[in-house]
Amino acid sequence: MKQFQADYDVIVIGAGPSGSLAAALLNQRNYRVLVLERTHFPRFSIGESLLPQSMRFLEQANMLEAVEAAGFQFKDGAAFSCGERYEFFDFNEKFTEGWGTTYQVQRDRFDKILADTAEAQGVSFRYGQTVTDFQYEADCARVVVENENGAIEELSARFVLDASGYGRVLPRLLDLEKPTTFPPRTSLFTHIQDNIVDERYDRNKILITVHPEHRDVWYWLIPFNEGRASVGVVAEQAFIDNMAGDAEQRLRQLIDESGWMASLLANAEFDTRVGELTGYACDVQQLSGEGYALLGNAGEFLDPVFSSGVTIAFKSASLAVEVLDRELQGQAPDWQQEFASELQQGVNTFKEFVEAWYDGRLQDVIFTSNKNDPVKRMISSILAGYAWDTRNPYVKDVKRLNSLAELCRQM
Ligand SMILES: Cc1cc2nc3c(=O)[nH]c(=O)nc-3n(C[C@H](O)[C@H](O)[C@H](O)COP(=O)(O)OP(=O)(O)OC[C@H]3O[C@@H](n4cnc5c(N)ncnc54)[C@H](O)[C@@H]3O)c2cc1C
Repeated sequence: MKQFQADYDVIVIGAGPSGSLAAALLNQRNYRVLVLERTHFPRFSIGESLLPQSMRFLEQANMLEAVEAAGFQFKDGAAFSCGERYEFFDFNEKFTEGWGTTYQVQRDRFDKILADTAEAQGVSFRYGQTVTDFQYEADCARVVVENENGAIEELSARFVLDASGYGRVLPRLLDLEKPTTFPPRTSLFTHIQDNIVDERYDRNKILITVHPEHRDVWYWLIPFNEGRASVGVVAEQAFIDNMAGDAEQRLRQLIDESGWMASLLANAEFDTRVGELTGYACDVQQLSGEGYALLGNAGEFLDPVFSSGVTIAFKSASLAVEVLDRELQGQAPDWQQEFASELQQGVNTFKEFVEAWYDGRLQDVIFTSNKNDPVKRMISSILAGYAWDTRNPYVKDVKRLNSLAELCRQM
């Protein structure tokens, strides 16, 4: 065991899903954990559609009961539309065993539930605290925090987990950022009172709609309870920049062009400010180093199309805690092998799916009727978040998508 006296065993930067989950799992193992969060909860966050795989992590952290009690919108699959075409995946019909259902969550409430549950379990949280610096020397990590009055404090820990999401605290401070291979895309989004009356619309599924003319422009419609929904569009930055009007006018014009989704939302009330995010895809050179590891979006973020963000954030937290536990017990785990490479297995599966979505291969697979049932179950598994199950041939060798797309095109 290392002998120095740090203020905490672990400091976690950020109280989003990856930070709260990691903190709760470390607390289960009796480590002294402090979470430092820049904002005050509840606070808005995008990323509202969960995948069934995430339920396993909520169970692990003893958070599932609190999430279930919150009454979020039930979710059992994903539906896809483009012009007249409509296909859906039922996540109960999948290759990998495990949860086949989950929720669509307003993230301000969801993130607060996770943080409050972790706090009730014994984790310390401090809000309104921005981490501005990190140093690691002689087995001790030191972070500098600034509160809202400008007061500065230094805190020490044996290890720091960076769960700061788009804040990307350690990637910036340690110069770890690496350009992503995806082109910069922009997303416009808002919450609405959807007033949908069409009985063909299935509120238990996220609806992903492809623009009838531009296959790389797509929309999400994520139903919440009480008739509310999250709606958004994603397109290359230049495409959005070339449109006239402000963010709301651009979003509404694109929804008007969406086909079935436009008619679904014909009576919708746009009662919330439209948000805009650009260039959110990011990557790093390494996911861990002396005294630190990066979780969730602080590491890599791919793309929102398969709602994989929170699931990857949870997976990274769960993997990191396993490895960190052994490090804190004085062992010398191989972070690259046991954390980064393990995480990358599923991230790479999603990455290939994202690339195949935008180049059209996956859309050809999804919209081909007459699908071979066992193959559909394998694709359904990955869409449900089971992207680390190497028994699934499409996880083990994700390039199989090429021949599947080819086959679908010939049907
Ligand atoms: C357009 C879009 C749509 C998306 N849709 C989905 C979806 O449907 N489903 C899904 O699963 N994912 C979705 N995502 C991704 C999802 O938003 C993220 O992957 C997820 O929130 C990552 O969680 P996290 O814990 O890594 O970070 P975050 O949730 O970003 O939390 C990070 C926390 O760190 C805090 N912080 C930042 N800087 C500091 C600092 N210096 N000091 C202290 N605290 C700090 C922040 O205030 C924040 O609370 C979407 C993303 C985008 C861009």
